Amino acid sequence: MASDDSWKEKYFRELEDAEHREQQWESERNLLERMLVRTSLASEGQRPDLDTLLAQLRSDLRKKRFDLQSWRELQDQIDRQIALLDEQGPSRPAPVSPGAAERETGGEAEHHIQRLRIARRIGQLLGQLIQQVAFEPPTEAEARALQQTLLASQDWEVLREGLNRVADLVVAAITRSQREFEAFLKRLDERLQSLREHFAEQSNAHSGRQDATETLNREIRSELDLVGDDLRTSEDFHSLKQSVSRRLEFIGNALEKFRTRERERESTLTHQLEAMQEKVVAMEAHSEQMQAQVREERRRAMTDLLTQLPNREAWQERLSFEYNRWLRYQNPLTVAVLDVDLFKRINDSYGHKAGDRVLQLVAREMGARLRSTDFIARFGGEEFVVLLPETRAADACKVLDEIRGHVARLPFHFSGDPVSITFSAGVAEFRDSDTEESVFDRADRALYQAKEEGRNRVVTI
Ligand code: GH3
Ligand code: MG
Ligand code: MG
Repeated sequence: MASDDSWKEKYFRELEDAEHREQQWESERNLLERMLVRTSLASEGQRPDLDTLLAQLRSDLRKKRFDLQSWRELQDQIDRQIALLDEQGPSRPAPVSPGAAERETGGEAEHHIQRLRIARRIGQLLGQLIQQVAFEPPTEAEARALQQTLLASQDWEVLREGLNRVADLVVAAITRSQREFEAFLKRLDERLQSLREHFAEQSNAHSGRQDATETLNREIRSELDLVGDDLRTSEDFHSLKQSVSRRLEFIGNALEKFRTRERERESTLTHQLEAMQEKVVAMEAHSEQMQAQVREERRRAMTDLLTQLPNREAWQERLSFEYNRWLRYQNPLTVAVLDVDLFKRINDSYGHKAGDRVLQLVAREMGARLRSTDFIARFGGEEFVVLLPETRAADACKVLDEIRGHVARLPFHFSGDPVSITFSAGVAEFRDSDTEESVFDRADRALYQAKEEGRNRVVTI
């Protein structure tokens, strides 16, 4: 039977998981905050009053000022501004065909296109969010439909409705995972409580049995003593026989009573044990399911959606790990920061989708060419970071320069044009009293030197 300690351990493990979930929520919230900041930045430049409100929103976010009441008021004001924008915008129903926007007068058309662009961007962010957050299946379906609307619709009214729903969905998704976990912990606690009660009953039953055995022993001993007395004092065989058989019968009855009670006790215990085992099995299954969910969510939270490389969070974790190893063993450890050259031009000339494809391909090629002990992550935008354990800066430069050459030779074609993709890299090795930050800064400075010296090169300082 499991000891108290192993229950305690389980409980602590659940608490640890809960802590991890909290970090998860934290990072989901950060994602939402970033999304809000980016969206509000993208919405600027339409009305000065709206810009002021959006700046207020960003400032609140920066200061981590989460005051629901003042946010509601802010939201009302923003809504009013957007309504004003709408009045200012095209007065006839929003165009449904893609060409219709161009037929509007300059300023209106500009507004319209800008709003569509914002809606598209939110559509993209929602897509990322769908992958990050565990929605309930019907909600996920709704979110996907909504995403399609945001990506495709030209009708501002539909889009505005859609944006309102996005906010609801996000809040629902986050509170749902929180609720689910709270419910799990509550159930776990109830089950542990009922197990504790079972243990208490078991030990009561055990001491009950001890008492009963002692009573039986005492009764038998005293009857046997009486038989001895009878034998010693009796002069008449007949009455002796009678009294001995009376005593034997008494002993027999006491034994029988003891056995019956024992059988009852045993059957109660068996039932309790079975019920308890069922509970344990259910609890373990549930906790395993919960752990799998936590593992999966952790994996999602550590992976960049576009390239499927580890993301910045994963990078920080690995960097700390390798840095601590370096502190202890002082084996070579090198960091590289890579940045795709003139990437803005790819987006501007061939569109964002082409840019995304380039990032995916470059990420795959780089990942495939590094050693399995090396670690590559997408740091953000068109920047990647690499950690090379057991590698000196000079050797890291060689490796990265080969990858650079390889990527430069990849035969990209956009709209029929052959395009060469290059990147620049800065490399720095841990030394002396370096910290994670100081090495990263050095690698970043080396990267900027590489850019200044003409790009498409690897530099170390
Ligand atoms: P440099 O050689 O100096 O690095 O020039 P650059 O154009 O690469 O540098 P800059 O930082 O000015 O531009 C980076 C561009 O990368 C801007 C942004 O539009 C684009 N970008 C960032 N993230 C993504 C993404 O996820 N997808 C796409 N398609 N483009 C992105
Ligand atoms: Mg950059
Ligand atoms: Mg760049």
